[in-house]
Amino acid sequence: KDFRNKVKPNWCPGCGDFSIQAAIQRAAANVGLEPEDLAVVSGIGCSGRISGYINAYGFHGIHGRALPIAQGLKMANRELTVIASGGDGDGFAIGMGHTIHAIRRNINITYIVMDNQIYGLTKGQTSPRSAFGFKTKSTPAGSIESALSPLEMALAAGASFVAQSFSSNLKQLTSLIEEGMKHEGFSFINVFSPCVTFNKINTYDWFKENIVDLDESSDYDPSNRVMAMSKIMETNSLACGLIYQDKSRPSYENQVKGFREQGLALQDLTITEDEFNKLVAEFR
Ligand code: SF4
Repeated sequence: KDFRNKVKPNWCPGCGDFSIQAAIQRAAANVGLEPEDLAVVSGIGCSGRISGYINAYGFHGIHGRALPIAQGLKMANRELTVIASGGDGDGFAIGMGHTIHAIRRNINITYIVMDNQIYGLTKGQTSPRSAFGFKTKSTPAGSIESALSPLEMALAAGASFVAQSFSSNLKQLTSLIEEGMKHEGFSFINVFSPCVTFNKINTYDWFKENIVDLDESSDYDPSNRVMAMSKIMETNSLACGLIYQDKSRPSYENQVKGFREQGLALQDLTITEDEFNKLVAEFR
């Protein structure tokens, strides 16, 4: 079960994305998958390269569209474990419509956002996750927009699994990805992944000083949605760990007749000429 391949990542040395790649590879091995059981779908951006760096089915999609592809894959073949991944610009700007609807739809896939709070591939512009006042080439006088809170958004959209981690905490991140893969429904995992080249504010040291690790809090209850929202607001969205999980909600595909048993790709879709003519007649 080796999820490493021979492709050498061309991320900048020190980029947080390396650890996310390693965490996915470890989590997949830990839950007992074989490479042919896993599909990794990505969007565009530095993060988008990840689908080429894992020994599994890989699909490098277009900007903001990793989730529609990943959901389609899962519906076509529910035997596959499907991971969608992308940056904060990819998922929270151009892809935000897909993100919200995928969350509330609850298809059984894991979405990992590689959140570096900037656009890295295009050389450092303000993203939906950049803080108010953040100075980049696109906002030289400082951003006058406030940053999006992915955790608040996910919870408000009706997520059944919300987690957050930091790329430096490989143990926690791997464990959360494993839990996300095992969760019956859509799992949303936001990961702080420092861009060492362009984001000089949200650095490794900055996160180490500001993150609130829920694994160190014995009285936190991730099944309590109200507590989850309070914790997110209280920590200014810097809480890390399993934020919320609802194990009772059925996944989308488990509610659709036909898909409950088998994905489309594995079903016998041959029909007789009579059946075909009847079907066509319905649409005349
Ligand atoms: Fe990582 Fe930033 Fe380099 Fe992109 S530009 S590879 S996000 S460090």
